[in-house]
Formats: sequence, C-alpha cells, structure tokens
Amino acid sequence: MPSYVNPEKCDGCKALDKTACQHICPNDLMVLDKDKMKAYNQDVSMCWECYNCVKICPTQAIEIRGYADFVPMGAAVTPLRSTDSIMWTVKFRNGMVKRFKFPIRTTPEGAAVPDGGFATKADLGSNALFTEPESSGLNAIFTLKG
Ligand code: SF4
Ligand code: SF4
Repeated sequence: MPSYVNPEKCDGCKALDKTACQHICPNDLMVLDKDKMKAYNQDVSMCWECYNCVKICPTQAIEIRGYADFVPMGAAVTPLRSTDSIMWTVKFRNGMVKRFKFPIRTTPEGAAVPDGGFATKADLGSNALFTEPESSGLNAIFTLKG
C-alpha cells in the first residue's frame, strides 16, 4: 500500500530546493506544498512501495501501510538510519513495539571503490556490463560475428 506523509512530522526538509523524498523517489511522486511546507504523494496508484522515501526522510515522517505478509495488519514500520546501520521499529496495533537493527555497509563511509576495482572506463559506454568479462568468469566478451 502506498506511502503517506505524516504532516505533523514533515518539516518540508527545511525549505531546501528539492526535498529528500523528492530526490529519492524513482517515480517522481513526492511533491512539496510550499505554502504549508509539507510533502505529499501526488499519485498513490503509481507508488511501488519501494520504501526509498521512508528510509531517506530525516524526520521519519513517511510511512507505508505494509501488507500482511510483511507486517501484521495495522502495524507501522519506521526506519532510523545511522552511518553504519538501520534500525526498524515495528509498532503493532496492540501497542507492542519491536526493534530490529541491521548493518547497511561493509566499508567505512566514503571508502567504497566506485568501480569495485575493475578496469571500467572503456566499458562504461558499451553494452557490456562494466565488470565483464571478469565478473562472468570469461576470458572475453562474446560478440556476434557478422
Ligand atoms: S523527506 Fe520527510 S521531512 Fe523532507 S519533505 Fe519529505 S516527508 Fe517532509
Ligand atoms: S515508496 Fe518509493 S515509489 Fe512510493 S513514493 Fe516512496 S520513493 Fe516513491
């Protein structure tokens, strides 16, 4: 079920040009009401429930009503990010609260090698995956002979 913004928690990303939820949504669904400085999902039927906006919102203002196979009906799932982990708080409709903390990276912040160490520059403009042929375990990329 689609995302929705709790207006009591949303601060409009403190009037930045583009809010965090606008920046992250792959479907460009989030818009900011500049008079009220509150964001909202402009077309809930197009929401993929990808949770990107939920995870990036700095004020934990966005929620998704999860399907029953993910959380029990009526429960709320709220993330809190840190530099190395994410904490999910699940609030059940009977008031019970459970928290789950997961690591989100294997390298210190800023230390990840963008190309994974592969020699990629020449391949970035081609149709090959940038890690091929090494990542496929091949010596060379197969090509069609014309
Ligand atoms: S990211 Fe959160 S605080 Fe910022 S505009 Fe969107 S809902 Fe509001
Ligand atoms: S859940 Fe995903 S698709 Fe839906 S509004 Fe948030 S970022 Fe966009």
